Formats: sequence, C-alpha cells, structure tokens
Amino acid sequence: MRVRAYRFRAYSSKTTARVLETQLEVACKLYNTLLHAEQEEYEKNKRTMSMNELRQLVLDLRKQNKEFQALHSQVAQQVADRFYEARQRFLDGLANKPKKKRSHQYLSLVYPQSGWKLSNWREAGRGKNKKRRARLRLSKIGFFTLIVHRVFPLERVSQVCVKLNSSGRIYIIFVVEESEVGEQQSEGEPKKAVGVDLGITRLATLSDGRYLENPKPLERSLERIMVLQRTLSRKKFLSKNWLKTKRRLAKKHEHIKDFRRDLFFKLGVLLAQEYDLLVLEDLNVQGLIQKGVTRTRRMRLHDSSFSELRALLEWQFVKRGKLVLPVPAYNTSRECFLCGGINKGLTLEDRVFHCPYCGFTLDRDLNASLVLLRRAGWVPPSVPAVELRPIPPLPSLGLKRRHGGAVRQEAPAFRRG
Ligand SMILES: [Zn+2]
Repeated sequence: MRVRAYRFRAYSSKTTARVLETQLEVACKLYNTLLHAEQEEYEKNKRTMSMNELRQLVLDLRKQNKEFQALHSQVAQQVADRFYEARQRFLDGLANKPKKKRSHQYLSLVYPQSGWKLSNWREAGRGKNKKRRARLRLSKIGFFTLIVHRVFPLERVSQVCVKLNSSGRIYIIFVVEESEVGEQQSEGEPKKAVGVDLGITRLATLSDGRYLENPKPLERSLERIMVLQRTLSRKKFLSKNWLKTKRRLAKKHEHIKDFRRDLFFKLGVLLAQEYDLLVLEDLNVQGLIQKGVTRTRRMRLHDSSFSELRALLEWQFVKRGKLVLPVPAYNTSRECFLCGGINKGLTLEDRVFHCPYCGFTLDRDLNASLVLLRRAGWVPPSVPAVELRPIPPLPSLGLKRRHGGAVRQEAPAFRRG
C-alpha cells in the first residue's frame, strides 16, 4: 500500500478562518502539554510513554479541560499520534528532539476517519477551465468551499488534513491509499529517450538540443523579499504587526514556490508526452549546495530546486507508465560525448566544451545531456545533429519576463520644432 495526497484550495468565511486559527492554537497547546508531560515522566521514571498512554492522556486532558473540547475528539487523538511520531523519529536518530511549538508554527489539523463530509457538488468554469466545487464540513470548525480540479477516489480517503499556510491560504488535503499496481504498465521497449542535464544558467538542457532558461524566481524577487525580511526583523516578535509582516513575506515565498512548481509540471508534461525514457543525473543536491563556494551560487542552487524538478519530472513519466533512469552524475560535464575522454581543465565558467583528445566542440550543457544518454546505454551518432534552441513557446510555460511578457511599446519620440 502506498498513499497519495490530493490537495485542493479551500475558501471559507472570515469567521470559519478565525475558528480554524483558534483550533490550531488549542492543538498547539495540547501538543506542548503532551511534550511537558512526557518530559516529566522521563525525569521521574526514566521511561517514555507509549502511544496508548499518550492517547489516554489526551482523553483525560479533554475531560479535565473545557478548552481542549473545542477540538474534534479524533483530531485531538491525532495530535498525540503526531507527537508520538516526532518523538519516535528523535529516538531513531532521524530528527532533532521535539521542541515546544509556537502557535504560528502549528498549522494543520488531521481528521482521521470521521468528522468531515463533502456535499453540494456542482460544476464551475467553462471549457478547459472546467472543475467542480464542493462544500466540505469539518466537524467543530465549519464549512469550506473546495475547488476540486482533479478526480480522486472519494471512497478510499483515509485522512483529511486542513492546512493553513503561513500566507493565510487554506488547503484541504485528502490522503488516499492506493495499491502499487495503480499505474499503467509500460508498453514494450522504450523507443525515444531523452537526457536532461540540470544547471544554473540553463535550468534544463535536453539531449535534442532544446533548453529551458532558468527563470531564477527567487533571485528576481530578492530585493523585495529582503526589504520585507528587514521590516519583519524590526517588529516585536509575535506582535500583531510581526504576524502581519510575516504573512506578507510568506505570500511572496509562496508565489515563488507556485511559479516553480507550475513550470516544472509543464516541463514534465512536455517531456513525458514526447519521450518514453527519461535519463537524469543522480545528483546529490545537498552536497552540491554545501560545496558551493560563493553565497550567490548556493542561493542559485536553492533557487533552481533540482530535487523538486527531478521529482516532478520523474512523476510525469512514472504516471504514464514510462521509464526513468538515473545515471551517476560523476564527471558528466567533463566527459567528451564522442570519444569519452575527460577534459580535466573544464571550469564552471566554461560554457563551451572542447575535447583535448578528438577536438570535438559542443555547448557544455548539451554535451553533458548527451553523455547522460550514452551512460544509459544509447549509442551516440557520429555527429550529433542537434542545435541549441529554447523551448518554444515560452508563454505557455508561464515564463514572464521581468518587465512584462509582451514586447514593450516604445513611447513615440517627442520631436522638437
Ligand atoms: Zn573527445
């Protein structure tokens, strides 16, 4: 069994949003109470509490304290599960010790089986933009309007999670259990393969010569983000104005994140529709970032989100029953695609690859993507008959230039005399 999450944007009235916020605060308090109880237990008896003990403790707390009764009973139980898992991860050496949370850090509630109901389905939008709306009732919180933009198996939902992003947006996430064989099976041998080299200057260079410019969304909005960050640091921590500025900052970051995901999804669809096999480098992104010498380079690596890009590209292929082949990333940029010689002198600044052995000259990223294909077992043609060209048409990929997408109209020159 494997789980898949379906995330939908949700809208609510201001009152409901406020109720949600209050409930999150209560859940946060409950979490901290559990943490405190656990610490006391450990100091007294040198033992940790079991899952059942924690759940029982939640039940008792709910009986003693009216405040905790604001939460749906299963939601409160799930707070115990969450704490238990956090502590287990700490004990297994996978995470840091669970810390006391502040309410602006506690942002989601989970309804395990009951306490939620979908109703009032109706169509919305026209043509391509067609989707469904539904009304979701979360027990003890209220009603949300969901934009259900994709089909999901409602009868197999095992959890419903409501998440309040720090930007103020609300999302509802349905967790569905799926069997492994859900995907389409691949049909025979893959016929067309594509190698994709990821980079900072060009986000992705395909072995067919097409490339995608790196839009660097974070770097582009960096100035405004820095101003906001500075403003935030001048506010009193956790004050009303601090929270307001925090929300504005989160909105900016969320926009950047959405932009990236959108672009990656579109690139993935483009590739998966044309090719049967995707060859990628098996990058150690974290190591790459740690190796980054300058601050700018590290930021650009973060900004390019290779891990997410890779995950989303892979997903588009796997979803269609197609193959993904990660190959070792070692020396891909330095290896000659034609003869396999290694150009040791190649630096990060060199945009063109020149082979010292056979004299082959090609664009650096294009060479790397062809090397990837070769490593995956594809026989190289004697002369790669490809030329570099940007992926058209960029507007459909959602890429906007900094100064507006369209060609700017020059103002008519003012003539004297
Ligand atoms: Zn060569």
